[in-house]
Amino acid sequence: PSALREVLIEVPNVRWDDIGGLENVKQELKEAVEWPLKYPKAFQRLGITPPKGILLYGPPGTGKTLLAKAVANESEANFIGIRGPEVLSKWVGESEKRIREIFRKARQAAPTVVFIDEVDSIAPMRGGEGDRVTDRLINQLLTEMDGIEENSGVVVIAATNRPDILDPALLRPGRFDRLILVPAPDEKARLEILKVHTRRVPLASDVSLQELAKKTEGYSGADLAALVREAAFVALRRAVSITSRDLVEDQAEEFLEKLKVSKGDF
Ligand code: ATP
Repeated sequence: PSALREVLIEVPNVRWDDIGGLENVKQELKEAVEWPLKYPKAFQRLGITPPKGILLYGPPGTGKTLLAKAVANESEANFIGIRGPEVLSKWVGESEKRIREIFRKARQAAPTVVFIDEVDSIAPMRGGEGDRVTDRLINQLLTEMDGIEENSGVVVIAATNRPDILDPALLRPGRFDRLILVPAPDEKARLEILKVHTRRVPLASDVSLQELAKKTEGYSGADLAALVREAAFVALRRAVSITSRDLVEDQAEEFLEKLKVSKGDF
């Protein structure tokens, strides 16, 4: 059934502004992906060859998927996102077929950003066991990468938490030859991420995002997003339990007015 699953073309709505911190990474992606997709003629004229493949690596939950979606959106490109494990099939030939289909769709819909999350699961280091399914998959992926023509408007971004176990053939020139580290957020980046995630959350005046950023050493972007979500729920429960006794329809405005996330909710 996996071969029958449609390859979905998306138009993501993530903007650069939705990503906290990672300023250098954003800049690098603008130059390596956004500019070539938006101004192919300028690149041609100057004889600059943009990368076909970019590998984002770093710890989980740091925004790799978000970055790939943002760069597609900001480049006015289509987006095809797949996770490595979902390509794996026990049926002979199915996985390769799916990879071919993904790239066929990508060319058809160009400009397209193809995003392969958890790429290590389809392209781990070869040898030893001689896993032939993996061999064929890697070869199919390499064939597709090699077949991407310059200025065809197809860019592949892959992501992994385990760059150390990737097949080195993937990292050769003309393939995933641009490696970009997506690091865990430092205090400043955590503050930026908290700002993004509280943009539409009413905060009581006792909440200090600076203080929260300081206290959340070791949190990833995904952890921080979850923290804000949970705090909002705590606020909701508190407000509902306080007001439900005397809440009547015409007090709804007043109720909403009081509904704020306070320091103690985090
Ligand atoms: P994984 O390695 O687990 O696939 P990832 O690096 O691809 O993770 P994302 O899926 O991009 O991480 O992030 C998960 C969620 O965490 C995002 O949807 C977002 O809500 C939040 N998040 C992570 N990093 C950031 C960031 N830098 N700014 C804002 N939100 C972030």
